[in-house]
Amino acid sequence: MPHQLPPLPYAKEALEPHIDAQTMEIHHGKHHQAYVTNLNKAIAGNAALEAKTIEALIKDLAAVPDAVRGAVRNNGGGHWNHTFFWNIMAPNAGGAPSGAVAAAINAAFDNFDSFKEKFEAAGLGRFGSGWVWLIAKAGKVEIASTANQDNPLMGSSIAGCDGTPILGVDVWEHAYYLKYQNRRADYLKAWWNVVNWAAVAKQYEAAAR
Ligand code: MN
Repeated sequence: MPHQLPPLPYAKEALEPHIDAQTMEIHHGKHHQAYVTNLNKAIAGNAALEAKTIEALIKDLAAVPDAVRGAVRNNGGGHWNHTFFWNIMAPNAGGAPSGAVAAAINAAFDNFDSFKEKFEAAGLGRFGSGWVWLIAKAGKVEIASTANQDNPLMGSSIAGCDGTPILGVDVWEHAYYLKYQNRRADYLKAWWNVVNWAAVAKQYEAAAR
């Protein structure tokens, strides 16, 4: 199979108490696995698609045949988004960014608290399922939100935004319902405690190259 579920970069209980072990186990082992399985099914038998990296696939959905484009968009997006999500979180993380990414956030939002407020508001404003992103474009950062498993890398004609994600939060109910039930606002506030700003800084630096 061309795509495989990557192992979590930490134990499933490592993000407690902010994100509980059972949510992590189901989110990674069931939801993310299903995106990988269904992506592999969608591209099975198409050698050109099977040869592409996940990033190349979602960046060029126009190259995917009509019959499977929807499946690749949803499941390829799901696979990329979740792999990214696990890696921008970590145990004993949180706090505030530093260096170039902090400067970019301050330039765009005045200060870190104002950024967090706007990011949380975007999460609460996403009706139904989707993601909120901090994206980098030519060194600047902005907040974007996508529905379902869409991703800014898919381009504005599909995702409604474009740029390189450097931070993202899953606001599907499956990301928080077991612990927070309908309280998405509480989940978003708690989530800051597991953001790995060192990983975000690396994403920002990679986007700038
Ligand atoms: Mn999810």
